[in-house]
Amino acid sequence: MVDPTSELAEDVTEETAPRCAVCREPIVNEPGHRVVTRIEDGAVSTTHFCGPACREGRSD
Ligand SMILES: [Zn+2]
Repeated sequence: MVDPTSELAEDVTEETAPRCAVCREPIVNEPGHRVVTRIEDGAVSTTHFCGPACREGRSD
């Protein structure tokens, strides 16, 4: 019997997954997942993209 409360790092659901900044799709085990981290006004800004197509489609 599988314990539903066990914590697995890979077990990301649509509710907990980050969302693509362009198409707003939840990123669940996307092989093309891209994360861009940068500093804005002294704070860390993390932006997720579901793949290179969405990342390149974002102008800023
Ligand atoms: Zn996307």
